[in-house]
Amino acid sequence: MNKDSVEYLSPEQWTQWHTELLQSTVNRAFSRVPFYKERMRQVGVGPDDIGSVDDIARLPFTTRDDLSDNYPYGLFSVPLRDIVRIHALRSGHANPVARGLTVQDLRKRTQLTARFFKTSGVGADDIVQICLDPGMALHGQDLKEGAENLGALVIPPDPVSTFTRLRIMTDFKTTVLVTTPSYGRHLFEIFRERNMPLAALNLKTVILIGETLTPETRMIFEKELDVETRAAYGIFEASGPSMAYECPCKCGLHIAMDHVIPEIVDPRSGETLPEGQPGELVITTVTARANPLIRFRTGDVTSISRQVCECGRTTWRMNPVESRCDNLLTVRGVKISAGQMKKLIADRTGGSELPFLIVLHKWKHLTQIEILLSIDETIFTGSLPQLHRWIRRSEEIFQEAIGISCRIRPVEFDSIEPCLQDGKFAVDQRVFEAGC
Ligand SMILES: [Zn+2]
Repeated sequence: MNKDSVEYLSPEQWTQWHTELLQSTVNRAFSRVPFYKERMRQVGVGPDDIGSVDDIARLPFTTRDDLSDNYPYGLFSVPLRDIVRIHALRSGHANPVARGLTVQDLRKRTQLTARFFKTSGVGADDIVQICLDPGMALHGQDLKEGAENLGALVIPPDPVSTFTRLRIMTDFKTTVLVTTPSYGRHLFEIFRERNMPLAALNLKTVILIGETLTPETRMIFEKELDVETRAAYGIFEASGPSMAYECPCKCGLHIAMDHVIPEIVDPRSGETLPEGQPGELVITTVTARANPLIRFRTGDVTSISRQVCECGRTTWRMNPVESRCDNLLTVRGVKISAGQMKKLIADRTGGSELPFLIVLHKWKHLTQIEILLSIDETIFTGSLPQLHRWIRRSEEIFQEAIGISCRIRPVEFDSIEPCLQDGKFAVDQRVFEAGC
């Protein structure tokens, strides 16, 4: 059995393996993480109740709020001395989210990312260029390590201009580009505008992550640039950017079921939904040592097929994410919450919770964030130059915190009030600006 053959297990083998992995994960979480023990106790379930993988539905859910509430060590299931890396993620709460990794966790994550690259046709002879916003830096690091593990030459994400990235792409003859669909389109829009010859590109594959890859965007890459495209899906909190990825058949994303057990549930009731029905993707990690996740609610709405793929892999396939069922906004692969924005604004105003509305614009295929901020006399004291300085500095601070650039526009509260109903904090203008 080679190391990749795990993707070809029979349904019976998957059930048996998942049952064993789930039992050991639940055992470990119950005995070593007080949070999980208490949650299981609340719903009247314990490790002895997990007789098969089907009993997973009896376990309580874990949410992003839980991860933040248990910062910094609350969800670790190994002693700190066994942890060799900690990733801290922004959250919409007072606390960030901390995820620890043991040596074993790091190795497995790198092997998984290398397997995803290999399935995407990437090898030791490739030159892999990763172009991601700073808000996706953790994905960028995983991708870098996975591609290096294959022996490929890697150009990791750097804070350079789009034109410089294109220049690097042509000068170093990049063969594989990893980026988001919107930034990928933006990149090649600039390429065309500068009248750079198609022959200057040596690209053979574009791997698109962080956002849903639409058939239209796929066609543009494949027909106009004559490259192969692959989509992948992942979340920071679990297995990184290669939790699910396309095979050459490109008919859904194969979920790395040797690392996670996926479920689809009704976002409102939490009930498990039948195969093929769209609902919220819920993930249980089965190989994570430092930070096991039990029934983690991703907030992403998709559906799953359990049919064997034409490629022969038996791992279930998820369809592209249709939407979100929580109050998180995803912009260029970066998640933004209302709570995070409120906190950033309050930090800048000395505690004032100024009303705001996020407006998403489209510019050359790239989503731009505009924050309409209802300022008061604590910010605008009558001096316009002073107000402009405050805005520019706030934009810099917000960009650093969110991981993507944004613009702030001061407005009257009356102009945004109608859009702020039912906890809404963002409006999407992109569909009206598609031709821009
Ligand atoms: Zn396949």
